[in-house]
Amino acid sequence: MASMISTDPSSSATARLLPFTRFSNGVVSLRRFVGPLHVGLLNPTFPRTLSLNSIRSSRFITAAMATEQSAKVIDGKSVAKQIREEISAEVLKMKDAIGVVPGLAVILVGDRKDSATYVRNKKKACESVGINSFEVHLPEDASEQEVLKSISDFNDDPSVHGILVQLPLPSHMDEQNILNAVTIEKDVDGFHPLNIGRLAMRGREPLFVPCTPKGCIELLHRYGLDIKGKRAVVIGRSNIVGMPAALLLQREDATVSIVHSRTKNPEEITRQADIIISAVGQPNMVRGSWIKPGAVIIDVGINPVEDASSPRGYRLVGDVCYEEACKIAAAVTPVPGGVGPMTIAMLLSNTLSSAKRTHNIK
Ligand code: NAP
Repeated sequence: MASMISTDPSSSATARLLPFTRFSNGVVSLRRFVGPLHVGLLNPTFPRTLSLNSIRSSRFITAAMATEQSAKVIDGKSVAKQIREEISAEVLKMKDAIGVVPGLAVILVGDRKDSATYVRNKKKACESVGINSFEVHLPEDASEQEVLKSISDFNDDPSVHGILVQLPLPSHMDEQNILNAVTIEKDVDGFHPLNIGRLAMRGREPLFVPCTPKGCIELLHRYGLDIKGKRAVVIGRSNIVGMPAALLLQREDATVSIVHSRTKNPEEITRQADIIISAVGQPNMVRGSWIKPGAVIIDVGINPVEDASSPRGYRLVGDVCYEEACKIAAAVTPVPGGVGPMTIAMLLSNTLSSAKRTHNIK
């Protein structure tokens, strides 16, 4: 198994100008470059689209000694931080203008440690941007009726603008039934069939887009990476990531193929892609040989792999072999620090949008 290169932007040290390559997809990257690369994002006011001139400027280029690498690192952590600052400012503006604070309600059922951690992180994220958070924690043996009652109460509560049911639910509950009970106006996860249906239909607008795929597209936008007319391959077709990611790419005028567990020649299909979004859950499945030179890679996968040198005994890697991707791709998201932080940022963004829509604020 290939090892992962640390991509903490704060570890970037030496700033210098290096020769660059322009790929056919418009991405500019450094040639035969030594070390992790962060273009622009160390500056929180980085431009939405990186121009060639800005990239030529040493202000936007920092490098540190490591191994050979040419891909630009798509730094989700920095982008998410910037988005949270934007949300924070808008929440304050809304409060000053009409005295309303957006509110997010989370329903947690059972005692799964990972779910409790996710819920705690979401509450913390809300606090950090000034969004009110509400929580109902029901025991593992709660009835479906109890969950539906909590949803109904939040549906009727005007101080709640978003409702999230933490998944997975205990096996005795009907997940579909429960998710369908969240009113579409507060479905900040974007999982309601009406929201997904609208996402799939031309000329229709979903009220909310699922957070993780929305975060993937936002990363492409914020890095000025073209989607229109590009060949995109989404690996994975789950309801929460792969399928909505493919729909979103199609809405942005990419030509989209979907690779799944029954696809006969995944490597060959993936190698045609200008943009790869991988959401599989298989560590390092996408190797360098799957990647077209100059492709842009968004790695959604979060996979624990054994690592005796880590205090936890494991580390997290993506679906894409990062070390190999860095040598071939034009741009790649690290794991952790890529898509992960964007998911919560998009949840906050959806909650703010919901409150603005309710109160007719542009
Ligand atoms: P999922 O529901 O298990 O779906 C996995 C998808 O991958 C399925 O469509 C499956 O195909 C496909 N697949 C499995 N093995 C494959 C293979 N060998 N070749 C090609 N396709 C294969 O998973 P998910 O919820 O979408 O999550 C995927 C990954 O993203 C996980 O690692 C998860 O932890 C991570 N994730 C990250 C975030 C984040 O915020 N960064 C959010 C959500 C999920 P079939 O449909 O044919 O079974």
